[in-house]
Amino acid sequence: MRKLSGQTIVIATHNKGKLEEFAELLAPYGVKTKSAGELGLPEPVETESTFTGNAKIKALSAMKGSGLIAVADDSGLCVDALNGDPGVYTADWAGPSRDWSQAMRLVEEKLQAAKATSPEQRKAQFKCTLCVMWPDGETRFFEGVAPGVLAWPPRGALGHGYDPMFEPDGGAGKTFAEMTHEAKNALSHRGRALEKLVAELL
Ligand code: IMP
Repeated sequence: MRKLSGQTIVIATHNKGKLEEFAELLAPYGVKTKSAGELGLPEPVETESTFTGNAKIKALSAMKGSGLIAVADDSGLCVDALNGDPGVYTADWAGPSRDWSQAMRLVEEKLQAAKATSPEQRKAQFKCTLCVMWPDGETRFFEGVAPGVLAWPPRGALGHGYDPMFEPDGGAGKTFAEMTHEAKNALSHRGRALEKLVAELL
C-alpha cells in the first residue's frame, strides 16, 4: 500500500478556506503541502455531474501540472427539501463573483418557497469526495458526509462558503462559522473524508 508520509503533495484547490483546512489536518503527519494556486496551476472546468467525477478532474489537472501526488476535493451542500440541490453546483449558486451571502439567501428563498420551516424540513448534508492521484495515475477516493440543519439568519464570522447557515449534528446548535477550525474539522465532511485518507495512506 502506498503512503503519503514524508511526501510533498499538491492540494488541488484555489479555495483559501479549503486549503487552510487541509494544511491543518495534514500538518501533524509530516506531509508537505503546496497548493495549485501557489504553483500557478490553472483551475480546470468541472464538467462532471458527480463529486467523484469533478474531484478526479481537479486531481488529474494538478498532478499533470506539478508532477506531484495530487489531493483534490469536490464538495457541496445537498438540501433534502430541494432534492439534493445545490449539490455539485454549490459554488455556482454564489455567482461569478463568489458572493456567499447571495448564495445563502438563494438557498433560504428556495426553502421558504418550499415552506420548509421546521428543523426536520430544513435538513441538509455537506458532502465531500477526496481524490488522491499519483504521478503514474494510481487513484484513490475517500468520502465524508456531515449531516445538519440549515439556520436562518446566518451566524458566525469564521469559516467559508455556506458555513454561517449550517448547524452540524453534534455541534450543540452552533453553525460551522461559530466554531474553531479544530471543532469544525472534527465534525465536517472534509474532516471525515480526510480521517479515512489518514487511516489508509498515512
Ligand atoms: P467545489 O468543490 O470547488 O466545486 O466547491 C464546493 C463549494 O461548496 C464551495 O465553494 C463552498 O461554497 C461549498 N462548501 C464546500 N465545503 C464547505 C464547507 O466546509 N463550508 C462551507 N461551504 C462549503
